[in-house]
Amino acid sequence: MRPEILFPLFAPVSTLKGVGPRIKPLLEKLAGPIVRDVLFLRPHSLIQRRSATVVTAEEGQVETFLVEIDAYQAPRGPQQPWKVKTFDGTGTLDLIFFGAFGAQLEAKHPVGSQRLVSGKVERFGLTLQIAHPDYMVPPERAADIPETEAIYPATAGLPHRTVRKFALEALDKAPNLPEWQDPAWLAREGFPSWREALSRAHLPRNEQDISAQAPHQRRLAFDELLAHQLALAQRKAERRRALSPPVPASRLADGLEANLPFRLTSAQNRALAEIRGDLQSGQKMSRLLQGDVGSGKTVVSMLAMLDLAAAGGQSTLMAPTEILARQHFETLAVPLAGQGIQTILLTGRDKGAQRAAKLQALASGEAQIAVGTHALFQDEVHFKSLRLAIIDEQHRFGVAERQRLQAKGDAVHLLAMSATPIPRTLELTNYGDLDVSRIDEKPPGRTPVATRAMPMTRVSEVEARLRTAVASGAQAFWICPLVSDSELIDLKAAETRAMELRERIGPSIGLVHGKLPAAEKDAVMADFADGKISILVATTVVEVGVNVPNATIMVIEQAERFGLAQLHQLRGRVGRGSAESACVLLYDPPLSEIAQRRLDILRRTDDGFLIAERDLELRGGGDAVGLRQSGFPAYRFADPFIHRDLILAAGDDARLILARDPQMTSERGKALQVLQELFDWRETMSLKDAG
Ligand code: ADP
Ligand code: MG
Repeated sequence: MRPEILFPLFAPVSTLKGVGPRIKPLLEKLAGPIVRDVLFLRPHSLIQRRSATVVTAEEGQVETFLVEIDAYQAPRGPQQPWKVKTFDGTGTLDLIFFGAFGAQLEAKHPVGSQRLVSGKVERFGLTLQIAHPDYMVPPERAADIPETEAIYPATAGLPHRTVRKFALEALDKAPNLPEWQDPAWLAREGFPSWREALSRAHLPRNEQDISAQAPHQRRLAFDELLAHQLALAQRKAERRRALSPPVPASRLADGLEANLPFRLTSAQNRALAEIRGDLQSGQKMSRLLQGDVGSGKTVVSMLAMLDLAAAGGQSTLMAPTEILARQHFETLAVPLAGQGIQTILLTGRDKGAQRAAKLQALASGEAQIAVGTHALFQDEVHFKSLRLAIIDEQHRFGVAERQRLQAKGDAVHLLAMSATPIPRTLELTNYGDLDVSRIDEKPPGRTPVATRAMPMTRVSEVEARLRTAVASGAQAFWICPLVSDSELIDLKAAETRAMELRERIGPSIGLVHGKLPAAEKDAVMADFADGKISILVATTVVEVGVNVPNATIMVIEQAERFGLAQLHQLRGRVGRGSAESACVLLYDPPLSEIAQRRLDILRRTDDGFLIAERDLELRGGGDAVGLRQSGFPAYRFADPFIHRDLILAAGDDARLILARDPQMTSERGKALQVLQELFDWRETMSLKDAG
């Protein structure tokens, strides 16, 4: 229930004076449908207005003059302006009006009258002029001309000055709200109250007041981030309320772990302990398992499935492509069978009696584990008692798909896996409603991939080395980026490259690209995995999880076109065995400074989480496009780069608040509810809902 105190802010924008049928749609488009949205607009710059005379005037500045109207000059031709000649005692100033009616102007500002005129000063030939002054008032109305004026975003038909008027009216309607922030934190950060912060944002006195780092701007950003983090934390708590019988750690899993040819890394052990903590808690798990390609997520998920099987429950592991599903099945089926667990593989390829038998095994509970593709969530697939759904490469699936899978059982635990390490801030803002485990350590014995950047002019050297490597049995990926707007042209470039490599190196060159039907793509990938192909040329990103231990060389053409995270993922596809691996980043010179820094980072580190943080920093220093592509929610006040510290603080704060006061019934809790209403995150946020 929305508290009454907020009603004026949630009224339609048409309740603002001057917002009629013409303005309403424009303002709605610019800000949003309600007064709150206008209140949450923010000026992006300032006009500082100086007083001047014609002799002291500075071209390009916004200045105010006290003048006397001398004469009106009619337009000389059709596209010409009215010109108003004025004099300020030191010289003449022309006022220029295009598309105006001289008679109306003259009626308002008769010859001989004194006026304060203010606007941007220009020079036309020898004369100083102002085109369309911002203000033109009698001297006794000097107070109408603000010395400092905030510039708001504007749109055609809605100039920034009009927007400012509405914003200030919305500010008038903003009530004093009960304080929802911790007073000690406010004092420490030097934050004003919410109302005061808004007032300073709308009535800036200097450039500093507009800066995102000004205390009042940080306060508004923190309010927004806290409202969001609270909503995410509440959703997380709500999910946990779904009960699920506790699943203890099992002998079966211990037995399998003891038989592994390796020991789990400490990061794997930590992730497994966190997952088991969820399974034993008696509440439903919703966890994201993050870890670089090759960090060993599969074995962790396998041990969890074994715990479930020991407790009489079924599990399913879903992968985005057939080849990935098959690789998982091949990794899991034999060791699981060794523990007496039956695993089936279900993909789109299963037809007829074979498919029927598999479905029967799942429905009867005879098979405890199902590995597969999208085929798993079809209606005909029934489980006897599905308890755990594991989604590999979770970003490749939609919310609805995950939910359909989870709907095949009661309170089905969710473990989403991702091979794209993301920075903490992005983790909090995008997955704050999930528990997150990180595998931030690689299994031992991997030799780091030797990474080099080379200009495209040296491609023949690279080809020569490839020839030698392939002759001695090595395999390589060769990635061609999607660059032009035309996929056809990109495809052609890849085909040409494949042809060239065939000429210079030999016949066993494969080509995969986005236009290839899935089955054919899988077939080429499988040939590569089986060693029938030496060099795989690919236009699109080859499957993230595909394991080809014998592939030791990764060549990336036009590496400067890829994002850091993407390059890191591509590189992660080699260096999986113990053999030395190499990654060659080919670029078209000259490199921009940012591209140079990106490639440098990649050469210096192999840590996906670190690379993700650096990537974000580089984007933060970059442009709006970088920000949009970074995947953060569209905040109104918070800047995910500038307010990084506040995101982390808001995450901690939200957790603390709910731990102390889960229903938010304390006085501060009630104030926080008002904050949440104010920002409305509850309704707007469902994108990352993991069901
Ligand atoms: P991910 O799914 O995280 O990309 P995988 O689970 O496919 O990684 O593991 C990659 C490879 O590493 C597999 O061959 C796996 O058997 C092996 N592996 C996993 N954990 C370890 C470990 N602790 N020590 C050595 N090898 C491991
Ligand atoms: Mg994997």
